[in-house]
Amino acid sequence: MSHNRRDFLKHSSVLAGSAVAAALATAPSAAAAPTAAPVRRRGAAPRMTLRFRPYTIQLRHVFTIATSSRTTTPVVLTEIEYDGVTGYGEASMPPYLGESHESALAFLKQVDLSRYESPFGLEAILHDIDALAPGNPAAKASVDIALHDLVGRLLRQPWYNIWGYDPQKTPYTSFTIGIDTQDVVRQKTQEAAEYKVLKVKLGRDTDKMMVETIRTVTDKPITADVNQGWTDRAAALDMLHWLHERGVVMVEQPLPKERVDDLAWLTARSPVPIIGDEGVQRLADIPKAKGVYSGINIKLMKCTGMREAHQMIVLARALGMKVMLGCMTETSCGISAASHLSPMVDWADLDGALLISNDVYDGTQVVDGKVTLRNRPGIGVRKLKG
Ligand code: MG
Repeated sequence: MSHNRRDFLKHSSVLAGSAVAAALATAPSAAAAPTAAPVRRRGAAPRMTLRFRPYTIQLRHVFTIATSSRTTTPVVLTEIEYDGVTGYGEASMPPYLGESHESALAFLKQVDLSRYESPFGLEAILHDIDALAPGNPAAKASVDIALHDLVGRLLRQPWYNIWGYDPQKTPYTSFTIGIDTQDVVRQKTQEAAEYKVLKVKLGRDTDKMMVETIRTVTDKPITADVNQGWTDRAAALDMLHWLHERGVVMVEQPLPKERVDDLAWLTARSPVPIIGDEGVQRLADIPKAKGVYSGINIKLMKCTGMREAHQMIVLARALGMKVMLGCMTETSCGISAASHLSPMVDWADLDGALLISNDVYDGTQVVDGKVTLRNRPGIGVRKLKG
């Protein structure tokens, strides 16, 4: 095999300069499969196999943002098996973003991993998958995440170690309060007592009521997400000052993403950082987001997964921009994958798995409001059922 574990460690740029590289290079060979794994026939080279199935996430509460309401989210659960080891991935596809069970399954049917010698050629494999078709970022992320999980399991290291991040430096996650009635907002704020930061959805005519209601319950920091819901830039600036005076520390996507000049005007004058979410999808969007936004919201389901999300953090930092790490409603698979990047961000909104009632994995947890990584290989998940 031209691509084995040792070659990966030697050549992988993610390990350059990392203290774990030396430790990994001297660790016992991972070529020996775990004891429970099937033993392959002598001489038969192992190949990767991709499996995937549609699944529907049930939300605990109706979730309302500026543009829509829903109670379920379609996802696709992926598995990549290689040499008796399985990595897990997920595509989460809120309907308003354009992907669906049908589109993801159609995309994944085009993915042929059996033509690669091993999962350690991750960069080339993911480059090929991205080139299969335009769009499909969540479907692509489902392969990216499963491949990262697989590689981490074969290396017997969690990704925070492979990237060289301190697992103690994870942020607090915000807990999201959707647009709702005064009574429900008050109740949800009370239920969120464990969380140190609240994220409030704004963008309708109830914005001041939402924030004032939360403030009758708690004075903890609030981040706000307008989801492109405001229209007038002068009114938006007034609102930013009003929010700032009430302890709102950051605002996501206040105006429609197409209004680039107005967003830059607002960012230049805002008392709080303005974060681009809908307006910043992938790595190539970052250079043009500089000056338009103070920072970016990175989500694995927008940017095709862990590989590009990692690159986006590095580029945004180099450009002096703030970084937020967000999510869709996802199982603990997608959330755990993102959480390995969380020691490197200013804000995390990784509550996606807390909002659902039928999770399929056990992984990264939120403990006293803090993103808490598991010391397990790969992305750190275990399958709960079927
Ligand atoms: Mg957002």
